[in-house]
Amino acid sequence: MVGIGLDIGSTASKGVLIKNDHKHYCEIMPTGWSPRDAAGQLIEKLLDNAGLDRSDINRIYATGYGRIAISDVDKTLTEIKCHARGVSILHPEVRTIIDIGGQDSKVIKVNENGQVVDFAMNDKCAAGTGRFLQVTANALGMDVSELAFAEDRSQIISINSMCTVFAESEIIGLIAGGISRNGVIAGLHQSVGKRVAAMARRLGIQEKVAFTGGVAINNGVRRALGEELGCEIIIPDLCQYTGALGAALLACEQ
Ligand code: ADP
Repeated sequence: MVGIGLDIGSTASKGVLIKNDHKHYCEIMPTGWSPRDAAGQLIEKLLDNAGLDRSDINRIYATGYGRIAISDVDKTLTEIKCHARGVSILHPEVRTIIDIGGQDSKVIKVNENGQVVDFAMNDKCAAGTGRFLQVTANALGMDVSELAFAEDRSQIISINSMCTVFAESEIIGLIAGGISRNGVIAGLHQSVGKRVAAMARRLGIQEKVAFTGGVAINNGVRRALGEELGCEIIIPDLCQYTGALGAALLACEQ
């Protein structure tokens, strides 16, 4: 059995191929303007890595924001279902998953079988998502991957604006006024942590808690979220791939 899971996200496309011997291969690339092209390239790369041909694939399942734009797949699934499946295989003890991606943030509650029991989602507003961090990193002349290394938690500057566009102006104003850039970055991480923790509290948090999505790579947001929730947070090794992993597992199982 060879199953491929694709998570065609707003920012990054992730793919996982699972062979029946449980060996898996992962690939990531920017989604770019065409989710369909990204999906095609991911499949080619995964097959290359695994030394397989197209004819060896039994099933391809797709999830993510761009899943509706791709045609050559056997099934499309919700991100909620795929993240739940992906996390439950890596960390069966997890009951609450917090996923922060490029365009939305989600809180998913799962039972001991990895099934979704409840969820909440913010996809209306960029604040509290990876987009917010990307826009503000840009305003600071940095790449989003540099933010966590630059933050200065000894002088956290609170960002008051709730909207990404206003927050960007606020940050530019603060920097122009001579405020510490690295203190502003610590404030940015705190603001994302606070927002997402508030959504999680509204749904109700049950430990253990896992943090997934590309934003989970950012150590500053991890720490801020952990402080806001007041509990230990598990970061799966494949934190940006859990949706694709879940889709690949479901493709192999069904
Ligand atoms: P989507 O599925 O919507 O494309 P992802 O879960 O792939 O979203 O997460 C994308 C977000 O992850 C980006 O907006 C960015 O904020 C963050 N991100 C990606 N790579 C890194 C990195 N190396 N360091 C810090 N943050 C990152």
